[in-house]
Amino acid sequence: MIVVMKVDATIAQIDHMAQRITALGLTPQVIHGKHQTVIAALGQERAGLTEVLEPGEGVEKVLPIMAPYKRASSELTRERTVVKARGLEVGGARVTVIAGPCSVESEEQIVVLARELKDLGATGLRGGAFKPRTSPYSFQGHKELGLKMLANARAETGLAIVTEVMAPEHVPMVAEYADVLQIGARNMQNYQLLQAVGDSGKPALLKRGMSATQEEFLLAAEYILDRGNPNVMLCERGIRTYEDHTRFTLPLATVPYLHDKSHLPVVVDPSHGTGKSKLVIPMSRAAVAAGADALILEVHDDPEHAVSDGAQSITPAAFGQLMDQCRRIAAAVDRTL
Ligand code: PEP
Ligand code: MN
Repeated sequence: MIVVMKVDATIAQIDHMAQRITALGLTPQVIHGKHQTVIAALGQERAGLTEVLEPGEGVEKVLPIMAPYKRASSELTRERTVVKARGLEVGGARVTVIAGPCSVESEEQIVVLARELKDLGATGLRGGAFKPRTSPYSFQGHKELGLKMLANARAETGLAIVTEVMAPEHVPMVAEYADVLQIGARNMQNYQLLQAVGDSGKPALLKRGMSATQEEFLLAAEYILDRGNPNVMLCERGIRTYEDHTRFTLPLATVPYLHDKSHLPVVVDPSHGTGKSKLVIPMSRAAVAAGADALILEVHDDPEHAVSDGAQSITPAAFGQLMDQCRRIAAAVDRTL
């Protein structure tokens, strides 16, 4: 339920309603909006609750939350969430760009690349230290050593670090180095991992599972939000279809759909979404035109020799072109980049 308080409701009235909600066995979440305060009553909704809560002093109306993802739903809050991690701000007027290699390969690689990307306008640095690979024989990442390399690149550039965490028991370690914890597509429904990331309090970048529906995606986000961590970014990274001209199919209707259903910012990953470097610039332009709040891109100084995902990695020069083109698209949709 959502208890909408009157514009002139007092703090005492708001507190009282929050206590009433607790007494009914629900969890109150007070949201102070620009004009009005609303209290979400989270938990199992049941008949008769509206009648119990509506007569409360200072209450304007009581509404049901129809979506199964209560905290992620735009029914709960119309104000958009802006996720902040160091200089990275996702969900505001500026479209932000997170870029870097698929895998952190060496200290020199990541530091040199981070400098170039920063100069070209990136605000976040991506790079995998723990890599989810289809084959157990493929490079699995430098693990903690890779995290230290990322931390050095941050010390050199100030870029916010976005890196994947694959297991609940690794969350404290990865959180020590990272500014944003990425949950990969293959782990979108790893509920213990989602809860551990929620508990860490670190901003999260949740990638859509390659076969997940939007409702499953939002319910996965709900697991993080439900642990009291409001800083969740939803990332469309492409889904598996019968189509084989691209690695995955990148459905950009996800962006306006999620903006309608949720207050959480939406990030698009045209690198994994296409799997082909040639398609990354056009699909980045399209993502910005569709309203994406951020892009996450794989950039490598020598894509041919990348240890992972070279075919979809663009060079720093191409990244520069991408930024110039996307800046113009952003202006056309009343945003900056
Ligand atoms: C990645 O970002 O390198 C990655 C493994 O992404 P995804 O989980 O979307 O496949
Ligand atoms: Mn990758």
